[in-house]
Amino acid sequence: MSVTTQSFENSLEREKNPWLAAAARFDIAAEKLKMDDGMRKVLRSPAREITVNIPVMLDDGRIEVFTGYRVQHSVARGPGKGGIRYAPDVSLDEVRALASWMTWKCAVVNIPFGGAKGGVICDPSILSDFELERITRRYTAELIEFIGPEKDVPAPDMNTNDRVMAWIMDTYSMHVRHTTTAVVTGKPMDLGGSRGRPEATGRGCMIVTGEALKKFGWRADSTRVVIQGFGNVGGMAAKLMAAAGFKIIAIVEYDGAIYNKNGLDIPALAKHKKETGSIRDFAGGENYDKTEAMYLECEVLIPAAMEGVITSQTADKLNCRIICEGANGPTTAIADEILADKKIFVIPDILANAGGVTVSYFEWVQDRQGFFWNEDLVNERLREIMVDSFNSVVAYGEKHNVHNRTAAYMLALDRVQFAMKLRGIYA
Ligand code: NAD
Repeated sequence: MSVTTQSFENSLEREKNPWLAAAARFDIAAEKLKMDDGMRKVLRSPAREITVNIPVMLDDGRIEVFTGYRVQHSVARGPGKGGIRYAPDVSLDEVRALASWMTWKCAVVNIPFGGAKGGVICDPSILSDFELERITRRYTAELIEFIGPEKDVPAPDMNTNDRVMAWIMDTYSMHVRHTTTAVVTGKPMDLGGSRGRPEATGRGCMIVTGEALKKFGWRADSTRVVIQGFGNVGGMAAKLMAAAGFKIIAIVEYDGAIYNKNGLDIPALAKHKKETGSIRDFAGGENYDKTEAMYLECEVLIPAAMEGVITSQTADKLNCRIICEGANGPTTAIADEILADKKIFVIPDILANAGGVTVSYFEWVQDRQGFFWNEDLVNERLREIMVDSFNSVVAYGEKHNVHNRTAAYMLALDRVQFAMKLRGIYA
């Protein structure tokens, strides 16, 4: 590899580093808010970072040690809130960034939580169910004094699900000697989960996209949508938006894309993926190059797969008018400026994908009340919060003459610093 290629890759790696991306946005918003230095120091770094090395007996009798993290970025506005991911490449920098995004996300939608995130370095694809359960229970036991309904409330994230949440809930409950459903969200329905939670993030994306459409005076049935990721967020957004009349012209997955200029039949595509394991070769569309599909002409692009896909190298090639960030951190800080120059209307991640944490909040409220809401009520309350938050961010941006992402960060930072000032510094 030549020195030039290597330095280019290093700079792209740096551009995509989630913690540096989060810090860059923080600095811009703090500067615009003229936040004082002391407050910047407090809010820029996580309040608490816990690393645990957990010994686990594997099925073949060997002992392996797994490293796990829980980062609590801020608890100024309420208990920490944020998912736990299991993946071989989990890093402290990534968990830090995700924890800080949770602080800003909860503040943007004005729910009474701070921000936290967790992760365990492991490869779930080579671990048995029993091994995953033992990792989860030991990780929970190591964190026992740091989590709880009033302290820090985990949830599922990459490679964790409702079953993992049930193990965490059970382990925690065994330690405190009573059943405590509100210690985690994203639980199975029979253990205190909320109706509407699986659809919530995708539904939130649809709601804010619908609000953006109103600004442009567009109708759903003449709006072409490209979605990257056909998992929980992207798959749900596709399903709900197709049912609401949007024309989903392409779905992009890690192994290829599928395209139909007249709109894809999303339920049929979901069935095809379930049967074949891939969206490729779907009879109702044509196979398409996954990179080129991101540059298709459309009104709305929804990156809902992973971090760092819209970069200094790709932003200029996009042909959309609105980006609704279903994923966390899909756009790098450098790409923000390119999108602003292209006058693309960006609905930033800390607003666009906040539907999930909002319904997690509803789950926590219902668990603590011991009284459960029907799905219509969950969806109605979600809509109210998403629409209000969208309007607050856009109005804030117009008032301060900044783009939506900076507006969302400014609004969030301002709310968190206000709470900190009211509380004062305990010494
Ligand atoms: P998921 O694992 O259910 O789905 C991700 C999808 O993206 C999968 O279908 C996967 O095959 C696809 N994918 C992976 N790599 C890809 C690539 N290189 N190109 C195209 N497709 C690729 O995950 P999810 O829960 O839908 O989360 C997606 C993103 O949304 C993540 O950034 C996550 O942090 C964020 N998010 C999720 C929620 C939630 O409630 N699930 C809430 C807020 C934010």
